[in-house]
Amino acid sequence: MSKNIAILGSTGSIGQNTLRVIDSLNSVGGERYEVLALTGHSNVELLASQVLKYKPKVAAITRVDLVDKLSELVGDSDVEILGGGGSLETVAQLDSVDTVVTAVVGAAGLGAVLAAAKKGKRLAIANKEPLVIAGELLMKAAKENGAEILPVDSEHSAIFQSLASGSLSEVEKIILTTSGGPFREKSLDEMADVTLEEALAHPTWEMGPKITIDSATMMNKALEVIEARWLFETEVSKIEVLVHPESIVHSLVEFVDGSVIAQLGTPDMCLPIQYALSYPRRVKGISHRLQLDELGKLTFAKPNVEVFRSLELGFEVARTGGTSAAVFNAANEQAVAEFLEGNIKFIDIVELIEDCLSRHSVKREVCLAELLEADSWARETVKETIKSKK
Ligand code: NAD
Ligand code: MG
Repeated sequence: MSKNIAILGSTGSIGQNTLRVIDSLNSVGGERYEVLALTGHSNVELLASQVLKYKPKVAAITRVDLVDKLSELVGDSDVEILGGGGSLETVAQLDSVDTVVTAVVGAAGLGAVLAAAKKGKRLAIANKEPLVIAGELLMKAAKENGAEILPVDSEHSAIFQSLASGSLSEVEKIILTTSGGPFREKSLDEMADVTLEEALAHPTWEMGPKITIDSATMMNKALEVIEARWLFETEVSKIEVLVHPESIVHSLVEFVDGSVIAQLGTPDMCLPIQYALSYPRRVKGISHRLQLDELGKLTFAKPNVEVFRSLELGFEVARTGGTSAAVFNAANEQAVAEFLEGNIKFIDIVELIEDCLSRHSVKREVCLAELLEADSWARETVKETIKSKK
């Protein structure tokens, strides 16, 4: 038996960890994991070295200007090279692929995630933004076409694993944990002048730059509330957020009888990635083992919603639905990109998102085109607001 895998975004943090997990799974023996397709965006050197090592049938570079460079770097190796944004969708639909790992960052992965669902693939979803923007459409497409959606996001993987103890109708609460990020104990005043370097220094997780900034603003948790709402088809009123700075309890499910089931592990994405690949089996993994006696204690607290406005906004957007989540996500993507480029301050990120949401007239019962329109509108609105303040 073998599983044929495509990794969308193989050059990123999740993508590289996925390849480490595949190496480990193949060294354990049993089921064989074949890497059939890889994609990257700008790190053409890394993509080329992955192609030379894993010998996929297809390699795609979404930046068209880098196609020639990729061809040159892989030399005469026997790989089909694709280029441009649309190549992600082509890869996601390849007949020979059964499992698509979606590890692209942002809305850029939306078309490919939907295409894989429509093709009835197994999706190991790390790329949370498509679920936030179009969760309803995506879950519907998956159901209609027999696609299996397995969460890679550590909290959602924990919830998925905890749910094995009961059924969805027996769930009273889904409790998402958050480390609180690097500014957990700061006041709004103290956050006014934090630097890019400070915002990129996450206390417990090593991740790509966008999600690291999202963790510092707690927008990541806000997006994860919406992600959970769709993945587990849960009423928003059943979702809670709990601050847990040690990042050991990855999330919890409380059932109607009062039992609380949680999944624990060291903060290492290899574990949830592996579970999504090997599911429903469990096999020996590479994550460091948990030593609870060394940790001594685990702590929990309510989030400070006055300082982290993003959380309240996330719950509000989750309840509102329609185009609001597309606007929430796109405004965040644009604001984070501007912060990473040094154009705005850290505290401007959530202010810009809130401002953008307040100017949006929400449309309900929407199709994909309307969601994409709301996405573009939000990006433009954020850009214009920044320009008008300069
Ligand atoms: P990253 O920035 O390290 O990697 C992003 C990947 O996406 C790269 O392979 C890059 O080439 C590709 N990419 C970037 N822009 C693209 C575009 N416009 N078109 C096509 N491809 C593009 O990001 P990451 O930290 O690996 O995160 C990937 C996704 O997984 C995100 O949605 C993130 O929220 C989610 N996630 C990440 C972690 C983590 O530990 N890193 C944990 C949970 C969830
Ligand atoms: Mg997460």
